[in-house]
Amino acid sequence: MCGIIGYVGSRPCKELLLEGLKRLEYRGYDSAGVALLEEDGLHYVRAVGNLENLKRAAASNGSRVTHGLGHTRWATHGTVTEANAHPLTGCSERELAVALNGIVENYRELKESLLADGHTFSSETDAEVVIHLVERHYDGDLADAVRAAYDELEGHFSFVVIHRAHPDLLVGARCQTPLVVGVGEGETFLASSIAAFLPETRRVQFIEDGDVVSITPAGATFQSADGTTGDPDIVEVDWDEESAEKGGYETFMLKEIYEQADSVRETIGDRVRHGELVLEALEMTDEQIRNLRRIVIVACGTAYHAGVVGRYIIEEWARIPVEPDIASEWIYRNPVLSKDTLVIGISQSGETRDTVNAVKLARELGARTLAITNLMGTQITREAETVLYTRCGMEVGVAASKTFTAQAALLSLVALKLAQVRKTLPPEEIEFTLNQLYELPRKIDEFLDADHPIEEIAQRFYDKPFFLYLGRHIGLAVALEGALKLKEISYIPTEAYSAGEMKHGPIALLEEGTPVVVVATDIHVYDKIVSNIQEVRARGAHVIAVATDGNEDIQHHADDVIYVP
Ligand code: GLU
Repeated sequence: MCGIIGYVGSRPCKELLLEGLKRLEYRGYDSAGVALLEEDGLHYVRAVGNLENLKRAAASNGSRVTHGLGHTRWATHGTVTEANAHPLTGCSERELAVALNGIVENYRELKESLLADGHTFSSETDAEVVIHLVERHYDGDLADAVRAAYDELEGHFSFVVIHRAHPDLLVGARCQTPLVVGVGEGETFLASSIAAFLPETRRVQFIEDGDVVSITPAGATFQSADGTTGDPDIVEVDWDEESAEKGGYETFMLKEIYEQADSVRETIGDRVRHGELVLEALEMTDEQIRNLRRIVIVACGTAYHAGVVGRYIIEEWARIPVEPDIASEWIYRNPVLSKDTLVIGISQSGETRDTVNAVKLARELGARTLAITNLMGTQITREAETVLYTRCGMEVGVAASKTFTAQAALLSLVALKLAQVRKTLPPEEIEFTLNQLYELPRKIDEFLDADHPIEEIAQRFYDKPFFLYLGRHIGLAVALEGALKLKEISYIPTEAYSAGEMKHGPIALLEEGTPVVVVATDIHVYDKIVSNIQEVRARGAHVIAVATDGNEDIQHHADDVIYVP
């Protein structure tokens, strides 16, 4: 999910668009483009790489144009090329174009029908179907055509359309992805973030999911799904540029924690279609999957902890032995591999040296290789035979948050795919689990929107000299990651341990009041966790449990409880 900015007004807009894209730069992007409406129709400038390349390419274009659309792309479907950079055109290049953020999940079906209708495609993106749909429905009224197209789309996206026949109009819509109107004096903006137009105007109108919004220099009109027109209040924002970049959050990390639902939603996206699993990008035949004897997951830091999550779910569901390993250790160990081993390398950036080297080594030693990463075109994607992408957009925070949950979600899909082919889970259970995964983003949002005693607990314990994190089974992976986060951002010495191992050493670290965070969700080892909590409390430690909503039993054992869905 990247950046959109559109402008209608009386000022030359090329610079405004480029400046707006610059302010969206913090979101990360791999290519960018602008569409400028000149007398003979739309003209495009697109460039791969940073905005300087776009600026240079656009130097001689449309300096007097007052109507245009810009985009920074974070590729999710289709490689990073100029042809895939937005704005994307329909069949008639000079007539109309779209810039889209997010993912159109049903693009395969739509593309088939459009191709059958004679439409020709010029990019590999999911987004291009949108402009062909608008083209198909267009009958003189752009807002009507956008509405008809919107109604056919499934996914999480926002988009803006520009049309040559409407020189003072831009039409956009959103579905679970930001899009906002900026109201100026005789000029109007339509952008994916307030940051894009903040120096030009602080007056904004928020758009609801399902609204089709049309902007002209005089302002915006809103048409909701039931055909009624709305007129949302104009809100004056008092953000400075820095907090606008962070969407109003105090830090990028907090913003990214709140972006987890989107990241998981986009990562699962079109890979789960109506209860069915679509994971073609795994590129393994059923026979290769059936013949797998072993999986090794190599990664560093947070990605390694996602790998530990992967171990529990893949072993449980697909009945294949899985060894998560730290890349920097594994590569120097002369690893034992064969061609029936799959080595999965996980790296958010795709450039983590040890993980890239591990994947390279695995390939040289004859194993199958799969990379999981958040960035197209990176080193790991060139070393691995196959690549699956998390779709988190840029993660600015060095302490990873949204990419961890997205990696875990993606590994769940891989585990289910393996289980499906190997018939180690009944189809009903696969369907049930897929539906649960599909529900996950909503549950993440519900959790983040609700009140929890987290801040109050932090106030009580922030100056403690030591924290212990405990968990078992998948809760161990979560405890390891939680402890890493606490160390990394608060500099408090923190240890994470398998709760069952605690009595063999770490228990000696506990004293009166030591905070111990215990992952005590409702899984089959819950009773064992409760016994461990009792051991901890017998030493006077203070237990902060993370438990499943509705579990009242935990109240008898823990001092503080944070409930999760
Ligand atoms: N899914 C679209 C693409 O890959 C848009 C990605 C974005 O949000 O930048 O082109």
